Amino acid sequence: MRFASLGSGSRGNATLISQGQTHLLVDCGFSCRETEKRLQHLKFEASQLTAIVLTHEHADHINGVRVLARKYNIPIYATAGTAGCLSVDVMALITEFSSHDVFDIGDIEVQPFPVPHDAREPSQFVFTDGQHKLGLLTDVGMITPAIEQALSMCDALLLEANHDMEMLDNSVYPEHLKIRVAGRLGHLNNVQSAKFLDKIDTSRLQHIVAMHLSEKNNSANIVLPLFAAALNCDQSWVGIATQQTGFAWRETITS
Ligand SMILES: [Zn+2]
Ligand SMILES: [Zn+2]
Repeated sequence: MRFASLGSGSRGNATLISQGQTHLLVDCGFSCRETEKRLQHLKFEASQLTAIVLTHEHADHINGVRVLARKYNIPIYATAGTAGCLSVDVMALITEFSSHDVFDIGDIEVQPFPVPHDAREPSQFVFTDGQHKLGLLTDVGMITPAIEQALSMCDALLLEANHDMEMLDNSVYPEHLKIRVAGRLGHLNNVQSAKFLDKIDTSRLQHIVAMHLSEKNNSANIVLPLFAAALNCDQSWVGIATQQTGFAWRETITS
């Protein structure tokens, strides 16, 4: 499986996952034009997309869905709760899934799982090609047993490290926003994510990328040593998805 990010953070998220002739765009938080531009940087055309798979309806995940999906007639996969928040003029393109049931899109098997986050019916995913397992976890306020189970033994893991608690505390954010972000239906802080990495089985891990970093309340310099310590690896091995460019293509390999 190959995967790349078009950008990650509160100003837009989109992840590209490819296996054979199947190409999934997970979330589409940038405008249609911006999405096309960012896809081209990855040497990819929007017309090649097999489907758009949505995690939840927050604007930083669905901003460009309506225009992109209609322009290229791309099927959209979403839970009923997320689908209910989308524009009526994409209803014909939507396939609803249950966040408890595995489903296939072309060559990729999608295993959704529910997450605690302040959206209608949010889910995150494990993608498999029968050989390798790619886990995605962002926009989640706390770790649950279901999340631990789903993301153990991944070959690649894209994991939220949203904020540093002290930076958030001292930030210019209004109080209600600080409470929302740090809350149990908000976002994972660096320590929560590092503890999670330490707890799950990461023995198969080929790729770890920190995702959805807050531009105001976090820094790669804080995340890298925490993740490296949790995984007992070199900092240079830990990836960071940026808001501006995400991250370049990566690939899971058979050893
Ligand atoms: Zn988000
Ligand atoms: Zn969200």
